[in-house]
Amino acid sequence: MKLLSVVVNSFGCSATGERLVSAARDGDFQEAQALLEYNPRLARYSTFGVRNSPLHYSAAHGHHEIVCLLLQSGVDINLRNYRGQTALMQACQHGHWEVVLILVLFGANVHKADYLNGGTALHLAATNGHSRCIRLLLADYIPSIPNFREIMSQLMDNEESISEFDHRGLSQIINRTADGGITALHMAALNGQVESVQLLLELGASVSEVTLADGTVIDLIGAGSTALHYAACGGNAKCCQLLIARGASLTAENENGWTPLMVARSWNRSWLEDILTTEPVDRPKLIPSRYLSLPLMSIVQIAREYGWNSKSTPGCQDPCVVCLERKCTVAAEGCDHEFCTRCALYLCSTNCGTTIFRGPPGSVSCPLCRNGIVSFVKLPGKAVKQIAITSLSLPICQSSNETPSKPTPLTTQLRSRKLCRVHDTPMAVSFCCQRLPSINLCQKTPNICHSLVPRCANRNSKNHLARC
Ligand SMILES: [Zn+2]
Ligand SMILES: [Zn+2]
Repeated sequence: MKLLSVVVNSFGCSATGERLVSAARDGDFQEAQALLEYNPRLARYSTFGVRNSPLHYSAAHGHHEIVCLLLQSGVDINLRNYRGQTALMQACQHGHWEVVLILVLFGANVHKADYLNGGTALHLAATNGHSRCIRLLLADYIPSIPNFREIMSQLMDNEESISEFDHRGLSQIINRTADGGITALHMAALNGQVESVQLLLELGASVSEVTLADGTVIDLIGAGSTALHYAACGGNAKCCQLLIARGASLTAENENGWTPLMVARSWNRSWLEDILTTEPVDRPKLIPSRYLSLPLMSIVQIAREYGWNSKSTPGCQDPCVVCLERKCTVAAEGCDHEFCTRCALYLCSTNCGTTIFRGPPGSVSCPLCRNGIVSFVKLPGKAVKQIAITSLSLPICQSSNETPSKPTPLTTQLRSRKLCRVHDTPMAVSFCCQRLPSINLCQKTPNICHSLVPRCANRNSKNHLARC
């Protein structure tokens, strides 16, 4: 009885905890805020049995403001539910990139693996084709340097390269295997997620990794299969072409003695016959992924160090030209145009590379001059004070009606150039991780692909990184 009273005192009664769960699930920010003010320990409440916390519910439903509120209430960002899933994994599964951005900024562990199949947040994002989430997850591994693609292609061709960054860390996380030796590339290829396959290949995913017969998964394609075997089963021609362009072997046999062509035939993918029969004479060059977003690492580091959510300052003398509300705190290297940290973060996260601009592949188009931005720098003496987050959505649409305050000579010059185009920028484009027709071989459990279904709870210890 004494123990029960301690539990009740710690987390409040379960009815209050359930109210917070409902508020987190339904996106009721006011209710969540009121409950947490009443008892901040409620943030640590978890549902009986399933052990999903309010953080899991808000992340899975994409309520990034509540995610932020809970994190500021001191909840453990890496809290796991009954199957070992963290909030980051659930946000990646459902493609809620704004939640992923918040969790990455707060330092969520991207290496945590599901207890049941060993899959990470990267596997879940790749399976469901959420390329923007994949890119945000890897924010700490892809340097903001102009020659990133050249370095990666030299490394992939096994050429000597003077690497300006530790590519091994990136390679390790990209090629991390779940149970059965399944990589994120296998999952994206199987499910026909063209954009995700392209991005993963760009970031160094190996086309020669093969699945294992470790007794943990039911693999209908056969152990020893490459991502091309999986793409052949999935039946997406574009995925097969991308993998072949990156050097995937057409003659590789899995442990059943099947080549990718034989896998395609066994699954009646007749339209892949030509693609999987003859090796192309000239290997086509891969088009840069539109999700590469080189400046992301620089702006994430600035945001973590100095904060990203400065208060709107009405009458600000030198406001950010995107939101027209907050002070400029960062500048784009090269063109030196200035923005607030939050707008720069969103610019890097939502850039889809559709606009024609001057800059290396993977750079982000400057909304003011169309120069390609590769990195951001902090403006001196403009530290952003971290405040309680009420909204992280950019008021871009509203800002078109607002009249900016009296501009300084510098901002006058910038605005006279391009201000009228600001609202046409890719930032105004809504979330557009394209969903492509997916192959779902497991009818009973729609969210889990067949090859990640565990046969037993045995975990392959080699799949665990030390940080887990
Ligand atoms: Zn701004
Ligand atoms: Zn510019």
